[in-house]
Amino acid sequence: MRAHCLRIPALLLLVLTLAPVSADTDDAARGAGARTPYYLPHMTWDEVEQYLRTSDIVIIPVGSIEQHGRHLPLNSDIVQGTEICLRIGQKAKVVVAPSVLAGISEHHMGFPGTIALSPATFEAVLYETAQSLVAHGFRRFIIYSGHGGNYTSVSNVVTRINRETAATAVDLLHVEFPEPDTKITSLKSDSHAGVEETSMMLLLAPGLVQMAKAENPEIAHPPDVRAVMEKTSGRDQAALLDSILYLPEKTGKHTSTREITNNGVVTGGDVKTATVELGQLAVDYRVAGVVRLIEAWRKVRP
Ligand SMILES: [Zn+2]
Repeated sequence: MRAHCLRIPALLLLVLTLAPVSADTDDAARGAGARTPYYLPHMTWDEVEQYLRTSDIVIIPVGSIEQHGRHLPLNSDIVQGTEICLRIGQKAKVVVAPSVLAGISEHHMGFPGTIALSPATFEAVLYETAQSLVAHGFRRFIIYSGHGGNYTSVSNVVTRINRETAATAVDLLHVEFPEPDTKITSLKSDSHAGVEETSMMLLLAPGLVQMAKAENPEIAHPPDVRAVMEKTSGRDQAALLDSILYLPEKTGKHTSTREITNNGVVTGGDVKTATVELGQLAVDYRVAGVVRLIEAWRKVRP
């Protein structure tokens, strides 16, 4: 799913360039290779202890293991979530937790390899991850989702952290991100494994992208979805589509990805036009929005 961290229409979404995280960004799941600064799994316990003497902020990326067409890997949303958070973490000097393994992706189960958690399981794992970090002294949480299907559950966990622990979590749905470049806002119906996501992966994990296999999809939306697309616009359209698109096959609503796209990609654009440059623009505005939030938070509570 497109890696907007927020469920805000693209027009409201919105950059900055950061120091590169490290040269080996195609070590995309960050499971091996060189130590990455501010990445909690690569830190030792005494380094975390030392960090907690100076800051109580942590970012938790979440993503998914789900089909992303024939040209992008199943972990695309985890790569995007983790790599974007590492750029945020290194710019703002904030620790980044590991991503939860999988996300809410039942609507992609028609394609092999997808691993879907129920919202209840996903929320439990994410909440208990936060609980562990609270126990060590982290008090301020930002949860960044690289997968649209996780948004509601992330909001639920943010609420639980605020209501049930000594810590404070911020819901990125409320953050106004910088306006993306028009090269991004002009992309048509580019919702899954399309031009923007492919561009970000070319930047963040080029070794995982198989551009020779990139192809545009044949899309077949059911009549009710087509009617919304043709007869409504703006936020009304976004609200209506959000309710009826990308639902599990078992609902009989015919909007799981296997039912609407022949290859798993959902875009009205040309996937082959994806570029590293576009990927940089797409990553930059996301990073800038969260860095600005952290700076604002530090103004009121250093
Ligand atoms: Zn995705």
